[in-house]
Amino acid sequence: MRRKIVAGNWKMNKNVIEAQQLMTQLLEYTMSNKSNCEVWIAPPSLYLMMAKDVFENDEIGVFAQDISTHESGAYTGEISVDMLESIDADGTLIGHSERRQYHGENDESCNKKVKLALDKGLIPVYCNGETLDQRKAGQHFDVVKTQTETALFTLSAEEIKKVVIAYEPVWAIGTGETATPEQAQEIHAHIRSSIAEKYGQEVADEVSILYGGSVKPDNAKEIFSQPDIDGGLIGGAALKVEDFSKIIEGFN
Ligand code: PGA
Repeated sequence: MRRKIVAGNWKMNKNVIEAQQLMTQLLEYTMSNKSNCEVWIAPPSLYLMMAKDVFENDEIGVFAQDISTHESGAYTGEISVDMLESIDADGTLIGHSERRQYHGENDESCNKKVKLALDKGLIPVYCNGETLDQRKAGQHFDVVKTQTETALFTLSAEEIKKVVIAYEPVWAIGTGETATPEQAQEIHAHIRSSIAEKYGQEVADEVSILYGGSVKPDNAKEIFSQPDIDGGLIGGAALKVEDFSKIIEGFN
């Protein structure tokens, strides 16, 4: 049984009061509703300790949005895996398309980060996905396969089982345009079969693969019902408890 996950990526949103409010609302929601999936959030790093405080009984997993490729030292503005480990964070997003687009992230740096996170017992949520031009050119299968191989295939079988992959077609992020459940499913199946080719089917069957890109309350259920889709990485719709909770209920 693969883990089923709905994860909220808050990106650079919310001041401290709003962040606390949303966390409290999420806590209340999880206390009074049983969900059929794990619920995770990735708030701005400034609020990670607050999140660990609010969710003191691990009701919701607490994730960073990025980590440094370095372990410590003179890297102004960065956050290390050791720091995350020291606040008992659950893991971190790695290689989100916005980090790739605006901060020079690539699959080689993702590979380093995935390894660093795993070495500290943190769950890496490795994000990949093709751009609109790549999809138009029919390259999406190859692009996603190469991204997966470069970032993950230096791991051992035991390690890759601990990674969560988030397939997020760049053209669907924040655009209101969602991949159809069939489009998402075929890429998820493709990622899983690439893992199976390298590590065997049993290992591939244990890796959770989330879909991200304009998941909303009204399309979550259909997307999550696909056989190779194990949940979602949610941006815009994770910023309001009303929307996020309905997406969680996509697993009911
Ligand atoms: P979106 O973002 O749900 O707002 O499209 C998803 C993501 O970037 O993780």
